[in-house]
Amino acid sequence: MQPLVDAYQREITYMRVSITDRCNLRCVYCMPEEGLEWTPSDEILSYDELLRIITVAARRGLRKIRITGGEPLVRKGVVEFIDRVHRVPGIEEIALTTNAVFLKDMAADLFKAGLRGINISIDSLNPDTFAKIVRRDIFHKVWEGIEEAERVGFTPLKLNVVLQQGVNDHEAIDFVNLTRTKPYHVRFIEYMPCANWDTWVKTYKPFQAVVDEVETMTGKMIPINGANEGNTGPAENFRIPGAPGIVGFIHAVSHDFCDTCNRVRLTADGQVRPCLFSEIAVDFRNALRNGCSDEEIEGLLDQVLYVKPEYHELDMIPEEKKLTTMVNLGG
Ligand code: SAM
Ligand code: SF4
Repeated sequence: MQPLVDAYQREITYMRVSITDRCNLRCVYCMPEEGLEWTPSDEILSYDELLRIITVAARRGLRKIRITGGEPLVRKGVVEFIDRVHRVPGIEEIALTTNAVFLKDMAADLFKAGLRGINISIDSLNPDTFAKIVRRDIFHKVWEGIEEAERVGFTPLKLNVVLQQGVNDHEAIDFVNLTRTKPYHVRFIEYMPCANWDTWVKTYKPFQAVVDEVETMTGKMIPINGANEGNTGPAENFRIPGAPGIVGFIHAVSHDFCDTCNRVRLTADGQVRPCLFSEIAVDFRNALRNGCSDEEIEGLLDQVLYVKPEYHELDMIPEEKKLTTMVNLGG
C-alpha cells in the first residue's frame, strides 16, 4: 500500500465529505439569504459513488471521515450511509458536523449506526442573536438536539462557535462558562473570508483578543496538551480549572497550520479539493460515471496529492476570489 503522501511529505488520512450543498438554515457567514441555486440532484454523487471513493482512499491509508454539507442531516439515507462508511476497511473514525436542527429525532439512530463524533454549530446561546445569525427562529430545536445527543452518549460533544465582532463575540465568556458545568468541547472558530468579504472585513476578530478578554474574566486557562485530551488538528485547547469541559480555539486565519495539514475535501458534486482556500479541484464524478477502475480512482487521488498547495496563501488571494461559499465546501 502506497500511502497518500503529498509533495511536501504530508500524509493525508482525513477526508471531509460533503453529502449535499442544501441547507435548512442561512447562516450569515455561509450562505446568502436568497438566490442560491442548489446543485441539481443528478449532479450530486450517490452514496455508492461516495463510498467507492472512500473505499479506494482507505486502501491508501485514509482513516478518518467527517460527514458534512450543506446540512448533512437533510439528505435522505444519511444514517444508512454512515453505517456503510463505518464498515469500510481501514476507516477508524467517522464524525459529523451538523446544525442539529434534526438531531433530536436522529441522534439515537446515528449512534446505532456507529457514529461517535458530532460537532454541532451553535454561535449563540441567546435565541434572538442565534436567529439573527442563522436567519431562522430555531434555537430551541438546536438546543434540544444537543441535549438528546448528550443523552444518547455522544461525548465529548463538540460545539462549533464562529465568533464575529459586534455580533456574538461578547458571548465567548458564556460559552466558556458552559464548560464549567457540561462536558462539552467548545471550539471557537475564527471567521473565515469565504463569502461576503465586506462583512468579513467588518466582523473578523483575531483570537488573541478573545483569549485576552476571556482570561480577564476567568483568570488564566490551563493549556491542554496531547490528543487524548482533545488537542488535535489546528486547535489550541484549554480548560478552566476544575471544569469538565474544554475550550478550544481554531486559528483558521491568524495562524496557518498548513505544515501539518492531513486533510482533503470531497464536495457533494464529486470534486476533491486539496485545500479549503484554493480553487484547485480534481473531478472524480466524470470518471466514476464513465465506469473507471479502482486504479483510475487511485490515479485521481495521486493528482490531488500533486496539486495540494504548500500553504493556503490566504493573504495573497484577491478579494473577488474569496467568494467560494463554505456551504459548497463543507467547512
Ligand atoms: N451545516 C452544518 C453545520 O453548520 O454544522 C455543516 C456544514 S457547515 C459549512 C460546517 C462548519 O463551517 C460550521 O461549523 C460553520 O459554522 C462553519 N463555517 C461556515 N462558514 C464559515 C466561515 N465563513 N468562517 C468560519 N466557519 C464557517
Ligand atoms: Fe447551513 Fe451549516 Fe452553512 Fe449554516 S453553516 S448555512 S447550517 S451549511
